[in-house]
Amino acid sequence: MGIIAVDNRETAPVRTGTGGLKGRNIPAMGNAYRKMTVVIRFILKNINNMSDINLENWQAKSDEHQKKYKQFLEKANKNKVLKQLPGLHEEAFEKINCLNCAACCKTYSPRFKPPDIKRISKHLKMRETDFIETYLRMDEEGDYVVQRTPCPFLGDDNYCGIYDVRPSDCERFPYTDEDVLFKKYNITLKNSTFCPIVFYVLENLIAAV
Ligand code: SF4
Ligand code: SF4
Repeated sequence: MGIIAVDNRETAPVRTGTGGLKGRNIPAMGNAYRKMTVVIRFILKNINNMSDINLENWQAKSDEHQKKYKQFLEKANKNKVLKQLPGLHEEAFEKINCLNCAACCKTYSPRFKPPDIKRISKHLKMRETDFIETYLRMDEEGDYVVQRTPCPFLGDDNYCGIYDVRPSDCERFPYTDEDVLFKKYNITLKNSTFCPIVFYVLENLIAAV
């Protein structure tokens, strides 16, 4: 299989309650103060959430939380989740270094779709038919995948040998910034068992939404 087995704010003037501004009705400053307060609250909330998610023994925790993840992904407010995803996705990639992991490339294959095959074979200066014959096989769902794992393009240092032209599945994996996260939640659940980034995003989402 492929890697897919992948405020409601017042606009009215406000009275500020701080220091020298106390008791003075200054609309612009009041709104600025209010916005700043909202931003500070948001940052503090996220700092608190971040500190709550401990990556130690994450795999065991993920196994324990599968039922909770499933219920969350089935019932979550999708708009709220989508708002959180870009930030959490970035945060996860800052905390977790894929070069220390490569579990996806070692265990699963991406789908090699026709545009991927065309781009990669051109990059390798191979005929498409030779590329397919050398590296790929067709799976039971009719998708081209690698003949065996780990992926033949994965180096010993965990770098991808075709990174700039890698399949779109690899580029999008682990789908933590896309609505695929809950649209194909069975895949998300599976991915959460081997990808710490999915674990991190799900744990933070549950804490935040
Ligand atoms: S499994 Fe997740 S954390 Fe590991 S290399 Fe793949 S994307 Fe990165
Ligand atoms: S093509 Fe590169 S990123 Fe994709 S599975 Fe292979 S080594 Fe990993």
